Amino acid sequence: MNPISPFRLIFAILFIIGGAVVAAQASEALTKIIIMSAFGVAALAIMALENRTPPQPDINALERQKKRLLYEGRAEAYQDVIDPITDPILLIRNAKVAAANPAAKNFLGHHIIDEDVRVAIRHPAAADRLANPNAEHTGEPILLVGVGSADQRWELRIHALNDGLKLVQLSDQSSRYAAERMRTDFVANASHELRTPLAAIKGFIETLENPDAGADEKTRTRFLQIMYQEADRMQRLVEDLMSLSRIEAEKYQLPSEPVDLAELVSDVKNVFLNGRSKKDHDFQVLLPDNIPMIQGDYAQLSQLLHNLVSNAYKYGHRGKPVSVSVEPNRNSSMLRLSVTDQGDGIAPEHIPRLTERFYRVDKGRSKSIGGTGLGLAIVKHISERHGGRLEINSELGVGTTVSVLLPTIKS
Ligand code: ADP
Repeated sequence: MNPISPFRLIFAILFIIGGAVVAAQASEALTKIIIMSAFGVAALAIMALENRTPPQPDINALERQKKRLLYEGRAEAYQDVIDPITDPILLIRNAKVAAANPAAKNFLGHHIIDEDVRVAIRHPAAADRLANPNAEHTGEPILLVGVGSADQRWELRIHALNDGLKLVQLSDQSSRYAAERMRTDFVANASHELRTPLAAIKGFIETLENPDAGADEKTRTRFLQIMYQEADRMQRLVEDLMSLSRIEAEKYQLPSEPVDLAELVSDVKNVFLNGRSKKDHDFQVLLPDNIPMIQGDYAQLSQLLHNLVSNAYKYGHRGKPVSVSVEPNRNSSMLRLSVTDQGDGIAPEHIPRLTERFYRVDKGRSKSIGGTGLGLAIVKHISERHGGRLEINSELGVGTTVSVLLPTIKS
């Protein structure tokens, strides 16, 4: 029953007094009784109606209850705080899960409430700390490997609350660990790529230091030629590494010059036609008139096209044409810049990995024709900086087309 408000009580009393006044004016006793009864019933109805209004939450009572729960160290006191958090959160008491937020239930299973924490989180290092009532919790993270999928990395932090209650926070650090692994792999790969030609150069210098080998004209010329090639490879590698780091450093700066792709294609074509392998391939260009301009970085886009044409020359068949085309899409919002060769093609399983640094389908072949394994990684980064998209289509025995879709300047 809700308490009756004083305002309504006064109103009901005044109503009864009013009834008494009206009844006093009636001449017959029976009429007086009927009038008084009618006013009495009406007054009761007013109070009954008051009692039927929906109960209003008593904020003070709720706060008092919450304070009591907090004081008693009860897990329910924290439920409304932990529920909206997107990281999985558990509350543990006496080595049992006392409460969990929806993210924790989705991750560890909806059955975890009241479960032993060693069963809920199947990780020995974490479970021992959680189950031990005397363990000290500094909030330092514990790395969990193998909880969830095999390549996921979680960090678990324990915070001691009131009365033996422990708050356990899990945060998914998989992408941070993957980025860190990529960085260390990159440094290891780059060092290995540089060490190989350096070791070869040192080896040949040592051989030439021997008076017998050094005096022989033919041997000396051959060794010096190899040393030159290896030094050349190191130089290309260092240049590509520097390009990559420069492009990465600028990746959040939108390029701003208006670039005419027709002019860019013509410049790159001239570089190749004047180069050493000019006779190996026929360089074809397919360009419609009046293509829209794009917003870009001329030097970077020319490096992108240079890398794609260089791959088409390297992996295309000798004597077969290499073609470069520029094609606007239906509403001219994007330009498709494509380079096509008629080479051996690439098996589909390799295609998703080609833009990884140092990934090559055939390492020996790439190295023997001067590849650094960084060309397509550079292309991908330049295309991303320009808000573009890279597409690689290839068929074994037929050839490869690598396209970059670049947004045009809105007129
Ligand atoms: P690389 O310096 O080795 O050419 P890239 O990053 O440019 O490095 O390319 C990565 C790998 O992709 C190459 O080693 C090669 O195996 C493959 N590849 C790239 N372009 C082509 C192509 N046009 N035809 C066949 N394979 C290609």
